[in-house]
Amino acid sequence: MRKVCDGLVLKVTDVGDHDRALTLLTADEGKFYIIAKGARSVRSKFASLCRICAYVNVELHERDGRYWLSSGSINQAFFGINSDLDSFALASYVMQLADEISGVDYPAHEVLRMSLNTLYAIENKLRPLAQIKATYEAFAANISGFTPDLSSCSECDSASFPDGLWLDVMNGALVCPECLKKKSGGLPIPEVDRFETKNILLPLDSSALEALRYISSAPLQRIFAYSLNDERSMELFCRAAETYLLHHLERDFDTLHFYKTVTK
Ligand SMILES: [Zn+2]
Repeated sequence: MRKVCDGLVLKVTDVGDHDRALTLLTADEGKFYIIAKGARSVRSKFASLCRICAYVNVELHERDGRYWLSSGSINQAFFGINSDLDSFALASYVMQLADEISGVDYPAHEVLRMSLNTLYAIENKLRPLAQIKATYEAFAANISGFTPDLSSCSECDSASFPDGLWLDVMNGALVCPECLKKKSGGLPIPEVDRFETKNILLPLDSSALEALRYISSAPLQRIFAYSLNDERSMELFCRAAETYLLHHLERDFDTLHFYKTVTK
């Protein structure tokens, strides 16, 4: 069986001495795996397709329950991402996240669209890299079904937070300082509660909260169209987005460590 499709290359691995395997993210069928025969040779016609972040059009044939690359061309290369290491490191992390939050044989229209928008934002430096990263992380948490309730304090329903507020990471909820004080009786919050749920409380301010709310409701073509009040708000927002996602996905990413090392 032959098929032709557009897809984003999320991952490239070497197979044997001569071939490469690609993980391709497509809108209609989600992720699938392709073998590019002979692609490790510098003279291979597939060499340019076997690069993460390339948005490609490929023709495949199915044999022995596997997809093999027959031919292909590049729709969008995002070459600009390779011009600096910080951008490349962030793009690599975004590709690994996209791999994590999408499934095989499961439509991935939004993840694909958001991943392409994010690569475009990185390449064209639409926003600071830290903000682009946090936007993708917040999107990834939302699309994976972990959207926190950002409407009001989960204890007293207050929706205004003049004195700041806390994001209760594992419960996906907000807590105002008053309620936090009442809950803990002024004592330090224990590491786990009586249900053995980890207590991870992250400080937010109103600007960081607005940014998180914006991402959960904005259309994808406008998802980067917001700004933070100042550096402090940006820090709180970025920390919350990363910590929230990693704790809900319950895993770590080697590309995130790489990004942190190069942007230090
Ligand atoms: Zn409250």
